[in-house]
Amino acid sequence: MSELDKIDCAVIGAGVVGLAVARAMAAEGRDVIVLESEDAIGTGTSSRNSEVIHAGIYYPKDSLKALLCVAGKKMLYDYCASHGVPHKACGKLIVATDEAQHETLAALQQKAADNGVDDVTWIEGSEARAMEPALNATAALLSPSSGLIDSHALMLAYQGDAEAMGMMLAFHAPVTGGEVTDAGIVIETGGPSPMNILCETVINCGGLFAQKTAALIRGLDAAHVPDCFYAKGNYFTLAGRAPFTHLIYPVPEEGGLGVHLTLDLAGQARFGPDVEWVDKIDYQVDPSRGDKFYGAVRTYWPGLADGALAAGYSGIRPKLGGPGTPAADFVISGPGDHGVQGLINLFGIESPGLTASLAIAQRVADTLQ
Ligand SMILES: Cc1cc2nc3c(=O)[nH]c(=O)nc-3n(C[C@H](O)[C@H](O)[C@H](O)COP(=O)(O)OP(=O)(O)OC[C@H]3O[C@@H](n4cnc5c(N)ncnc54)[C@H](O)[C@@H]3O)c2cc1C
Repeated sequence: MSELDKIDCAVIGAGVVGLAVARAMAAEGRDVIVLESEDAIGTGTSSRNSEVIHAGIYYPKDSLKALLCVAGKKMLYDYCASHGVPHKACGKLIVATDEAQHETLAALQQKAADNGVDDVTWIEGSEARAMEPALNATAALLSPSSGLIDSHALMLAYQGDAEAMGMMLAFHAPVTGGEVTDAGIVIETGGPSPMNILCETVINCGGLFAQKTAALIRGLDAAHVPDCFYAKGNYFTLAGRAPFTHLIYPVPEEGGLGVHLTLDLAGQARFGPDVEWVDKIDYQVDPSRGDKFYGAVRTYWPGLADGALAAGYSGIRPKLGGPGTPAADFVISGPGDHGVQGLINLFGIESPGLTASLAIAQRVADTLQ
């Protein structure tokens, strides 16, 4: 390779968002390289989540989270159907377990309607129990368009599409620096084969490291790099089968959606994620956190047996605000925000980033135009 390679478009990060963005860029006929520090796709948050296709219920009206989740959900279901990505629109129940929660549930239903999610219905506790006899509920919202997806199969499909359109994927290629020049943005990578690449466009999809990566780019004003806070979410898996066919969610809690029941496509149940604010990335799950899970899950599933939960896995949410602050929106920061031509930074791409991935990619493409 020459000392300064040139490429039209570099995408930093091969998570679900980076791959969706790379696919969208390649589809526009652009030469794309994805720079990934690890040795495989999707080793970060994209393989450490609930794998739920969200309907778009929870987010403030007109927020990027609301708009891109609702648009992304439709795009995702269509994409899964056309590309054979395993998924299931199993539906979800958000349950109130005492009447004091009905107001919150009603507010959620209104929020869903405000966001254009018009298929969410209020059902009484008896109807919920008729659908899911093991459930404790005084009322529930039924969201039929919520579902499950095999997130790794989705990433492989994005990768396959993008590679078929010429995308190159470089593993062991951590971005270690960058510089804004008159000719474009020079991206420096480390790893076994260090490169300096002159790029017309750079899209930073670094997930938990997006801020650290943006801060390495000389010429980008640090005022346009927000703080990042890590909210770990731990999961516990259930021994045996869960007596549920829907996803079961409590009313949301601060920092997350509450310890919910999700199923994988084989029907195996897991509970989580909780919210544990952390300073560093460590995916070990402390088994003692399971004690709190029993209490949380038994509010809606009193039949959960002692000893049925085992420490599973964890993921970490890249939050833009710390404990006690309101949930922040996705940030897609382009030249109109920070003044650097050709640079887009994606910050705070927590849930529903998986659901929204195709719509985020579309938004990035639109921002560049
Ligand atoms: C606990 C939890 C549950 C969730 N549940 C859901 C859900 O059910 N439904 C849903 O829609 N969303 C969910 N999400 C959100 C979703 O998982 C994320 O929004 C999505 O995976 C983010 O993808 P990403 O590509 O931005 O980040 P990542 O998957 O983290 O990918 C970033 C990549 O960038 C690479 N990278 C970083 N810095 C550099 C660098 N300097 N150089 C090279 N490479 C770099 C990393 O190695 C990594 O591979 C959940 C998230 C969490 C944490």
